[in-house]
Amino acid sequence: MMQVSEIQALLLDMDGTVYLGTQPIPGASDFIRFLQDSAFPFLFLTNNPAADATYYSEKLKTMGMETDPRHILTAGAATATYLMEETPWRAVFVLGTPCFEDELRRAGLTLDSDAPEAVVIAFDKTLTYEKLERACLLLRAGLPYIATNPDKVCPTEYGYIPDCGAIAALLESATGRVPRYIGKPEAAFARMALRKLGVAPEHTAMVGDRLYTDMEMAHCAGLASILVLSGESTQQDLDAASQRPDFIFNSVRELHQAMTSDKNIQERNPR
Ligand SMILES: [Mg+2]
Repeated sequence: MMQVSEIQALLLDMDGTVYLGTQPIPGASDFIRFLQDSAFPFLFLTNNPAADATYYSEKLKTMGMETDPRHILTAGAATATYLMEETPWRAVFVLGTPCFEDELRRAGLTLDSDAPEAVVIAFDKTLTYEKLERACLLLRAGLPYIATNPDKVCPTEYGYIPDCGAIAALLESATGRVPRYIGKPEAAFARMALRKLGVAPEHTAMVGDRLYTDMEMAHCAGLASILVLSGESTQQDLDAASQRPDFIFNSVRELHQAMTSDKNIQERNPR
């Protein structure tokens, strides 16, 4: 088992890990400053494709976390990269926000509802029946089908709202088709992040608050897994989990302490 002091790079979840909605998690800004000051390789990963890296870097800045867009990989950007690097499809029909549509265009894709080569779906607050109808017909015609992230709901200040996974469930019920997902917990998302950082999986850890996305991706991609209890997962979830994370901390503040401690770091999760 790797020790915390042996970790050489970090993939970090955002919501529930360094902030909750619009509130920073205590200690998170010090932790990010520490990573920046020590030139420690890190990358934030988010499944939310509704906004882009620039938006998230500005959001983190308002909470005292100095980052720039190259520190952030969204499932939307990863989907654009996947399409451009691993598929021949350049004309796509999209269910997504205007921001996601722009991201696909910037990557070199064409948005086309008449004769697309693939259907791409995402969290879409601009969803209309017309868009669903078109997606349905194209999926029934057999077009390749990609989705940014499998999350059924997205947490907001006012409650849980339908996310990409719920839209996929609607389309599955109408067409029988299931998309290829790109975001967490897909190992391909982690591999894309490692390539961006230029690091190897065996020296990298994933830090996050969700067992079935963040920790699951770490297991799938061969990364060390670090669960923080500052977000969604509770001690009860952990007790019921089939696979324990490698390390468990109350928050990134404790992880920061473990990473900077001179003392031999005790493994936090004996079993
Ligand atoms: Mg989270």
